[in-house]
Amino acid sequence: MDLDKLWQSTMGEMEIQLSKANFSMWLRNSRPLDWREGTLYVSLPSTFAKNWVEDKYYKNILGILRNTDSSIKKVEFVINQKAQAQKTAPANNAPEAAAGGLEFGSAELETNLNPRYTLSSFVVGPSNELAYTAAKAIIEKIGKYNPFFIYGGVGLGKTHLIQAIGNEIVSKYDRKIKPKYIPSEQYTREVVWGLRNDRIESVKKKYRDADVLIIDDIQFIGGKEKTEEEFFHTFNALYESNKQIIISSDRPPQSIPTLEARLRSRFEGGFVADIGYPEYEMRVAIIQSKLQEAGRSLREDVVDLIARRLRKNVRELEGVLKKLVFLQEQKGGEVSRAAAEDIIDKAVKNTSKQVGDAQILKAVAEFFNVTIEDIVSHNRRKEIVEPRQIAMYLLREISDLSYPYIGEKMGRDHTTAIHSYEKINQEINRNSSLNQKILTIKDIIYKS
Ligand code: ADP
Ligand code: MG
Repeated sequence: MDLDKLWQSTMGEMEIQLSKANFSMWLRNSRPLDWREGTLYVSLPSTFAKNWVEDKYYKNILGILRNTDSSIKKVEFVINQKAQAQKTAPANNAPEAAAGGLEFGSAELETNLNPRYTLSSFVVGPSNELAYTAAKAIIEKIGKYNPFFIYGGVGLGKTHLIQAIGNEIVSKYDRKIKPKYIPSEQYTREVVWGLRNDRIESVKKKYRDADVLIIDDIQFIGGKEKTEEEFFHTFNALYESNKQIIISSDRPPQSIPTLEARLRSRFEGGFVADIGYPEYEMRVAIIQSKLQEAGRSLREDVVDLIARRLRKNVRELEGVLKKLVFLQEQKGGEVSRAAAEDIIDKAVKNTSKQVGDAQILKAVAEFFNVTIEDIVSHNRRKEIVEPRQIAMYLLREISDLSYPYIGEKMGRDHTTAIHSYEKINQEINRNSSLNQKILTIKDIIYKS
């Protein structure tokens, strides 16, 4: 049996079934190793990839393989560290090698959607899987999961995903279903304009005629009473006629304090999904996907460096990427690691907010209704252990403090600090109530 051929043709089929971004993230670096007694051994670059592929694609892959050769009984995935090295190799045959692929396109007049945002360029992993799956379901059955409420921090792909839903709907239904996209600030401006110029009826009509209303960053309408009122009626009108409503926000409905209760409960009654921070592998895949879109490449170690250093905001990561690509073009040679480091340092310095340790501890204490003394004490009660771990997590996450420093601050050693950070960091993707707690605490921190 020619293993390479067999695997290639299987991957060919998988590539058709999956989106481009997904395929290159999870399967591009798989390699057949061996075939023994009905088992095909295949290498993958990391445990992370192995778990994901086994979980999501095992059945499909085995099915395709068995169609070709029924003597294959199972597939075993093996982690191969060496494959990691190939991971960041620049993608050849980039389809749209147009210059400036990293730039924004412009929005369509009627839908206000930017065609640049597609599902196939959206990299999926544990931190956004639920939201992505929901998006697919919504495209299939418009109006069934209503409203769809997606929330998550800045630059994590909310706008990308909700606009992609709109764009997919336009192409899938051959323009017969009309989505309309609007950031909530713009909606507010239109409502204010309508009220002032006696044209509110035309604003009303504009949004009630949509088949799918996509409203971005809804948190900004909180507290703007007239706009909320208007939106509430539009929401109800659309909802009652089974039109799809898609809403994004930087936090869950219950954490938008100024939002009117009746709107909040409407939102809570829908399909609520969160987007968390992308894992390292996802960040690498996102970088590769952006580079490929732009028909550009960067050195492997530079890609790795960007993915390691920029963990919390994909937009920021893209900003650095653009700078590096630009620099590379100007110099006409590869950007060195040192130059990349320099650019990343500047980007990180610009965005990290100056938040003090005391502020973080105070906010955690306030949220859990415990004292700061409790948090730094050696008390092992569950009600104290959780705030303590979250405090260590936030000291790292927000202030980027070293583990030894955090340990000392909390009266512990650095391994405890590492353990706490890692534990919360993993858990946050699986446990949405934990994620919510942390979002709310961050809110308290940034408001103080
Ligand atoms: P948000 O609306 O959550 O603040 P955006 O949707 O504007 O974030 O995302 C910021 C940038 O990061 C966009 O250019 C988007 O394409 C990119 N991005 C974020 N998440 C992903 C992802 N999972 N796959 C590909 N690109 C992403
Ligand atoms: Mg956005």
